[in-house]
Amino acid sequence: MLSRAGRITLASSILSAIPNYYMQGIYLPEVVHKELDYLSRQFIWGTFRERRRPHLVSWERITQPKKVGGLGLRSSKDANQASMAKAHWRLLTEKEKLWSKAFCETYKIDNPKSNFKKLSPVMNNIAKGSHILMKGIKWIPRSGDKILFWSDNWVGNKPLNEVLYGPFSLNGESLMINEVILPSGKWDWDSIEYPLPEDIKSKIKAIPIQSESWLWVWNIHSLPKIQRFIWQLGHGKLLTKEALFAWGIADSDLCPRCQRKPESLNHLFRECPYSNLLWDTLTPSPINAMFLDLNFTDWLRSHSCLQTNLGGKATIFVKWNPPPEGAIKLNTNGFAFGNPGMAGAGRVFRDHLGNWILGFARNIGHTTSIVAELWAIRDGLKLAVSRGYNGLILETDSRTALTLLHAENCNFHSLAVLISDCRVLLRQLPDVQTTHIYREANSVADCLAKIGTRLNNPFAVFEQCNMNVAMLLLSDTIGNSVPRDVTII
Ligand SMILES: [Zn+2]
Repeated sequence: MLSRAGRITLASSILSAIPNYYMQGIYLPEVVHKELDYLSRQFIWGTFRERRRPHLVSWERITQPKKVGGLGLRSSKDANQASMAKAHWRLLTEKEKLWSKAFCETYKIDNPKSNFKKLSPVMNNIAKGSHILMKGIKWIPRSGDKILFWSDNWVGNKPLNEVLYGPFSLNGESLMINEVILPSGKWDWDSIEYPLPEDIKSKIKAIPIQSESWLWVWNIHSLPKIQRFIWQLGHGKLLTKEALFAWGIADSDLCPRCQRKPESLNHLFRECPYSNLLWDTLTPSPINAMFLDLNFTDWLRSHSCLQTNLGGKATIFVKWNPPPEGAIKLNTNGFAFGNPGMAGAGRVFRDHLGNWILGFARNIGHTTSIVAELWAIRDGLKLAVSRGYNGLILETDSRTALTLLHAENCNFHSLAVLISDCRVLLRQLPDVQTTHIYREANSVADCLAKIGTRLNNPFAVFEQCNMNVAMLLLSDTIGNSVPRDVTII
């Protein structure tokens, strides 16, 4: 003979547990719920067909939680609704599971508010627990384009329309959160017609908004081609080995660098030991650790902006390199005090050992640096042509001058005369190369150009090394490096 306590324990652990399995996937009919509850009640109070016992405490009271005076038993209907709410929650949160993928893809579900009652019998069952789910979930605003400002639960524990008294505004009910956020990511209080109490305002202010605007890509301080690359990367569209393999173009999806894992975007930029090495060099390791848990898009955004925060600067060491044996290197430089101002041009020819062949300085007059640069190049090329130098390497620190020399059409450029002279001279020199050198490594020509600005004569030729540049020449010859701050792009 079972005691009442034993009956209650059995009812709660066995009777109510038996239908649990079915309740995970099906919402049972009302008559079944009633019958299940009836059987539990009868068992607890010891009522059988031949023997009736009074039910001293109501079933409603018994199915209350213990802390409010019940026995903590669950009514069949409540248990079934809870199971359905759980299924709904899992459908939305376990997106990597096959069943969830199948349902979400088939019925295009991406939101707890999706109305899927009529989609299929299973979905209809799951919808029976929706009202419980909606009571328990709270929205985390990201871009805010799916959350209703007044009627969704996103501030505190209740929707705002349950805490405040309306009417809120003409289109109040349909106001979305993103309509109240300025492009800068700040709250636009003026767009809310309802005077929000200060305590609510301060709660809203504390909610971080994740702007999903893509403007961050175009705000990165870098070249347009890098911004476009990051944009493409943000959309996950890059021909990685994984993608090529999936298309049947590559015969393997393995990362060609480490040969350990498929070369996905995440591997290529984050996981691969080679990429890690690069990130460790570019950013302090505590910062890298902070971004370990981010998904790829957030990580990409953080790292793209991180460079900007750090200033994107790095120090590199540059030096003058002698030409190969048999070749002659011509370094040129133009300099203008004040730009425009008193300008000079300098140039120097050296052999493969760094030996001085010929130096030259010119006083140009009052002009700009770029004019002085082109003057220096023209002077240098003229002399190279007249002396018949073969294998000349022209090195300048002016990228603008180099661009102009190789530009398609400069006939209408204000410096067309100088540019055209230089091009004619270049064509007369066999095997000529033009290269760029950082200013810090072009110090000999730079010094000669400055000498040029102080010349009383139009120009000066230095068959021997000038005393003023002797130390700089020596420094170049022995291969001294000089630090230079560069912007990382
Ligand atoms: Zn790898």
